[in-house]
Amino acid sequence: MNPRDLLHSRPEGLYCPKGDFFIDPVRPVARALITHGHADHARAGHSAVMATRETLDIMEIRYGAEFAGSRQEAQLGQTVRLDGVEVTFHPAGHVLGSAQICVEHGGLRIVASGDYKRSRDPTCLPFEPIRCDVFVTEATFALPVFVHPPAADEIGRLLKSRDQFPERTHIVGAYGLGKAQRVIAHLRESGYSAPIPIHGAVQRLCEYYQARGLDLGPLEPATTDDTAAAPRAGAIVIAPPSAISDRWSRRFADPVAAFASGWMRIRQRARQRGVELPLIISDHADWTELTRTIIDTGAEEVWVTHGREEALVRWCELNGIVARPLHLTGYEDEAE
Ligand SMILES: [Zn+2]
Ligand SMILES: [Zn+2]
Repeated sequence: MNPRDLLHSRPEGLYCPKGDFFIDPVRPVARALITHGHADHARAGHSAVMATRETLDIMEIRYGAEFAGSRQEAQLGQTVRLDGVEVTFHPAGHVLGSAQICVEHGGLRIVASGDYKRSRDPTCLPFEPIRCDVFVTEATFALPVFVHPPAADEIGRLLKSRDQFPERTHIVGAYGLGKAQRVIAHLRESGYSAPIPIHGAVQRLCEYYQARGLDLGPLEPATTDDTAAAPRAGAIVIAPPSAISDRWSRRFADPVAAFASGWMRIRQRARQRGVELPLIISDHADWTELTRTIIDTGAEEVWVTHGREEALVRWCELNGIVARPLHLTGYEDEAE
């Protein structure tokens, strides 16, 4: 069987004709299998959605209870038949509830990994390499220059800066789903026990992570209607990336703008955004993780979905692996 008969790209997204479903479609479809809750992968308006419990919950938090006509919970590691196709969700290590989707038919196995990483993340289950014939991978950081340092080291730099500038408020820009909670969890692991003020935009997802058993320690609203009640100097505040350079941040004492993102490897990006303290913390695989993962899956063929496809395709070819870019559109380059 030609793998493209089992899964191929359509304008809506990756489509499986035999099972009549799409994976992470960017337009409303009849049946969608969703890898994780980030807005470019999980959209509202599908007739039927299948995803892990956490991804379904996150979609409901973001879009309301009516985000899909019907929903089906996928249990990790449990194979489900959708028409003639076997489908199994496996952990992707990206954010809470994130999953790779394994599609199998007639002895052919394709794994669509969604977004993933291999580095440690206390907020979600680790990525599980699945042996497959075709591995579908993203390529957000698919250049050899992207090697993410251990997150604990970056958190160490944040704490050091805070010790150095105790009078200043450190505002850490962190994407609201996954990154914000991960930064907080790493801070707690580093022994930081002070209450952490959080921006209103990340509050509901922090509460959800806590409800699912993740200990984020004491959190408090970063701002209230009473502008006099700004957090004391020296606090570490967590806010969405857009907030660190806008008016919102000006109410804090001489703020240090920090930003937790894989893009912070590129100094120019940090400068452009007015980031004083770039923290290289990413929820996407770096170059080393991408190439190691492809080897781990044993795939003879690799399809590259979004990001820097060319370098990864060339690496595959040099290593005797058939590879092609899918040119899927509608996915963002780590909108963090
Ligand atoms: Zn994502
Ligand atoms: Zn993505």
